[in-house]
Amino acid sequence: MYSHRIESLSESMTIAISTLARELQSKGKDVISLSAGEPDFETPQVIKDEAIKAIEDGFTKYTSVAGIPELLKAIQAKLARDNHLEYETKEILVSNGAKHSLFNIFQAIVEEGDEVIIPSPYWVTYPEVVTYCGGKNIFIETCDASGFKMSAAQLKAALTPKTKALVLTTPSNPTGSVYSRQELEAIAEVLKGTNVWVVSDEMYEKLVYGVEFTSVASISEDMLKRTITVNGLSKSAAMTGWRMGYLATKDKKLIKLMDNLQSQCTSNICSITQKASIPGLDGRIDPEVEKMRQEFERRRNFAVDALNAIKGLSVIKPEGAFYLFVNTKALELDSMQFCKDLLEEEGVAVVPGIGFGMEGYFRLSFATSMEKIEEGIKRIARFCEKRE
Ligand code: PLP
Repeated sequence: MYSHRIESLSESMTIAISTLARELQSKGKDVISLSAGEPDFETPQVIKDEAIKAIEDGFTKYTSVAGIPELLKAIQAKLARDNHLEYETKEILVSNGAKHSLFNIFQAIVEEGDEVIIPSPYWVTYPEVVTYCGGKNIFIETCDASGFKMSAAQLKAALTPKTKALVLTTPSNPTGSVYSRQELEAIAEVLKGTNVWVVSDEMYEKLVYGVEFTSVASISEDMLKRTITVNGLSKSAAMTGWRMGYLATKDKKLIKLMDNLQSQCTSNICSITQKASIPGLDGRIDPEVEKMRQEFERRRNFAVDALNAIKGLSVIKPEGAFYLFVNTKALELDSMQFCKDLLEEEGVAVVPGIGFGMEGYFRLSFATSMEKIEEGIKRIARFCEKRE
C-alpha cells in the first residue's frame, strides 16, 4: 500500500525524546531540555533587517532554482575567504537547509546497492537518507580513546569496489570531534586513485575551541575534485528556522542533475531568506558569531568538568560544535532506558546514544543557558547516584 522506500524511514530519536518531554511538560513537570540541536541565540539583527527590506521591496517571487546571483557570489566569496576553496558560482546549489543539500546529493550519486561509509557515532540523517536512496550504510566505529575519529587505516579496510561515498562531519554532531589537517591528509592519501566521493558536512565550522578548522576539499587538488562541500547558516548564524543550506562541487554536471531534482520538488528556497543570508556570509556577523563561540566554549568547559565529576560518567572535551557525547558504560544501562528514566525521574531531556548508532552514551547539548546546564547536570548527578 505504501512504498518500501518510505516505510524504511524511521522517526528520529531526538523527536521521540522531545515528544516525551513535551508530554511531561504539559502535565506540569519542570523539564530541562539539554537535547536541542540549535543555538539558543537570536538571529543577528542585520539578517532580520535584510529580510524586512526584502519583503518591503517586494522581493517575494520565484527565483532561479540554485539561488539568486548575489547569494551565490556571497557563498563563493565566503568559501574562498574562510575555506581556501575556489568554486565558480555555477558550482554552488542553495537548498532548504543542509539537510536538503544532503538529500539532493545522495539522490544524485547513490545507486541501489552502493556502499556509503559513515563513521559512527553519526548524525542521524545520513544513514536514513542513504537507505532511502537504496544504498548500504557501512559504519566505521570510533570510540572515546580515538577522540571519536576514524583512522586512515580503518577507512582503508572499509573500502570495497562498491564504495560510492564517504561522509565526513567535522566538527561532529554528536561528538564534537574535529579532524586536524594531518588526519585529513592521511584520509586523502587512502582515497587517492579511487572513485569515492567525499561528502563533507561543515555545518559547525565556526564553532571550534582552540583548534583550527580545515575544509576537507582544501587538502589537495584530488580532494577538491572528489569532495562535495556542504554548509549552511542554521548553526553559524542562528538561522535554523530560515532554511538555508548550500553545497559546492567542481562537478558541474552533478550540480545540473541536482538542480533538476530540486526544480521538480521545492524549486528555489524562500526568496526572503536568500536576501537575508548575504550578511550571514560576507563577514558582517563575524563579531556576533565570535561572541556565541566564546559563550559555547565557556559552557563546554563547565559542563565537561561537572560531568566528569559524576561517578559512572565520563566525557572527552570536544574541540567543536555544541554537544557532549557522554559515556555511561560504567552504569550498564541501555541508552534509551537511561534517557527515558532520566526524563521521567528528574525532568532532564538528553538524547540516547543509540540514536547516533552507539550504545552506552547520551548526547547532551550545551546550546542552552548556563543556569539550565548547571541545574540539568545537578539532576543528572542525583540520577546517577541512585544507580551506583
Ligand atoms: N548537518 C549536521 C551535522 C547537523 O547537525 C545538522 C542539524 O542538526 C544539519 C546538517 C542540518 O542543518 P540544516 O538546518 O541546515 O538542515
